[in-house]
Amino acid sequence: MDTKIINIWKNILIQLRNTLEEETFNDLFKNNTKLRDFVNNNVYITVNDDFTKNRIYTLFISQINKYASKYSDDPLNFVFETEEDIKIKEELEKPPIIDKNSYYLTNLLPEFRFNNFVVGESNMFAFQMAMKVAEQPAVVSNPFYIFGDVGLGKTHLMQAIGNYFIEKNVNAKVLYVKADMFVEEYSNNIHSFDKSIKMQEFTKKYRDVDLLLVDDIQLLSGAEKTQYEFFKIFEYLNNHKKQIVITSDKPADKLTNIMSRLTSRFSWGLIANISNPTLDHRMDILKKKLSLSFDSKTVEKISDDSLKFIAENFTSNVRSLEGALRSAVNFCLTIDKPLDLENFKVALQAMINSNNVISSKETTSYNIKKLLSIVCEYYSILEKDLVSSKRHYSIVVPRHIAMYLIKYLFDLSYLKIAQIFNRKDHSTVLSAYNKIVQDLENDEVLKKAIEDILNKYGDK
Ligand code: ADP
Ligand code: MG
Repeated sequence: MDTKIINIWKNILIQLRNTLEEETFNDLFKNNTKLRDFVNNNVYITVNDDFTKNRIYTLFISQINKYASKYSDDPLNFVFETEEDIKIKEELEKPPIIDKNSYYLTNLLPEFRFNNFVVGESNMFAFQMAMKVAEQPAVVSNPFYIFGDVGLGKTHLMQAIGNYFIEKNVNAKVLYVKADMFVEEYSNNIHSFDKSIKMQEFTKKYRDVDLLLVDDIQLLSGAEKTQYEFFKIFEYLNNHKKQIVITSDKPADKLTNIMSRLTSRFSWGLIANISNPTLDHRMDILKKKLSLSFDSKTVEKISDDSLKFIAENFTSNVRSLEGALRSAVNFCLTIDKPLDLENFKVALQAMINSNNVISSKETTSYNIKKLLSIVCEYYSILEKDLVSSKRHYSIVVPRHIAMYLIKYLFDLSYLKIAQIFNRKDHSTVLSAYNKIVQDLENDEVLKKAIEDILNKYGDK
């Protein structure tokens, strides 16, 4: 604190001591007051209790002001407060605690961003338009319609618009919904016993947005009532200059079982198609994904020809391209083999042979089945026991290994893995995974078992 103000207060006290009876001075000022702070000409003095505070204010404040004007050129305002007063004041000045529930629920995944979307010829137009729409909502194109085959980045691009939007304006209300979830939500509301309240909430939720992202609109197909509800929301948002972005697996005029007053509106704005990436583009995507998921030391060890092997074999779906890369790298890392073409071939052969790599979902489920059957064969147990809740040691260990390997190779969520093992809750998988990671540090038998299983998995 400013020594000037300390001296001023000292001098005022001296003056008071000279004019007051000793007992009064001691009671009120000497034992009861303390200079606390000085801000913007306010002199804050802490007093022990309300009684003292009130006496000072009623009986002595004018005297204090008078003395103050003797020692200070600037006018001073004296504020006497108890500790209690200070606490209350601080509470009031604190920024409000943000209630977690009051956060606007966007449903966006933060990892879908413009800066990790790899641009090539096949998605250039969609990307550029998405950026423009995010920059100038409801100006460039409303709605903005993106279509293309599965796994080519429609959801990624759409959510990137949403994430960009929020980054630019934290208060913006962005809502992402997959069309089938929208149908389900509508149907739940309409069948609930407090239907009218639920429907009011539903309408409010979808109208009260600045940006609405509806993914996979083809899934509205056949749901007529929901379509009508969506039509009303669409009209409302459009009239209020709120941006709508829609994705689909086909152009608007090829949608079936969706009312034409909706499909015709989908063509009001820009329509962007995303098609298959070229080989070079796929290589760029692989490199980007590597740099995002693995450390630079690991990345350096991967040769271009092994990446090319993946890019050449996974051509029609970025999701499976990504999945293949992850499987191959994790395969080599787990069994400590070099990250080269030969081992990539081993890791991915089964996936490629099963061929018609239509969607990664199918290849993943194919490979999980394969992995489970290898684990069962290795331990001579039945698959139905592996995925049961039997607690015998001979089954629990293989089960933990299987859970671990699925996480490791396919990186599914713990909950999804739990479902494979007929469990509702993710916690068993999480603890199984952690246990194996820990045990692997010094359990040679376990390490050998996992290597053998992975080798078999790679051979088949
Ligand atoms: P879609 O919605 O078209 O089926 P997604 O947006 O879900 O496809 O993309 C599938 C996966 O591929 C996601 O993990 C996404 O990040 C990735 N992906 C697709 N296209 C690209 C791209 N151009 N750059 C980076 N990642 C991409
Ligand atoms: Mg999608």
